[in-house]
Amino acid sequence: MLDDIQEDRAQGKYTGRMGTESRLLMALHRQCLCHHCAKFKPNPDGREENCEIANKLYDLCVEYDLVTPVARCPQFVQREG
Ligand code: SF4
Repeated sequence: MLDDIQEDRAQGKYTGRMGTESRLLMALHRQCLCHHCAKFKPNPDGREENCEIANKLYDLCVEYDLVTPVARCPQFVQREG
């Protein structure tokens, strides 16, 4: 399994800059807990409505050009529907 993940690496552009990506984790990005959480309300014009943690994580991702799916969160609330 670890060998598969290491061989899965590739160079790619996400926000315009080249970076090393795990294709497996990039493909699973939509499984990020935030996308299924009632607290996740991304809106560039209304950040105060969004989860504070998600906002901080987003800022870090923008600053360093990261993609960081959330795999664990003690404040997760299952979104209805
Ligand atoms: S509470 Fe956790 S899972 Fe929900 S949006 Fe915030 S960081 Fe994501």
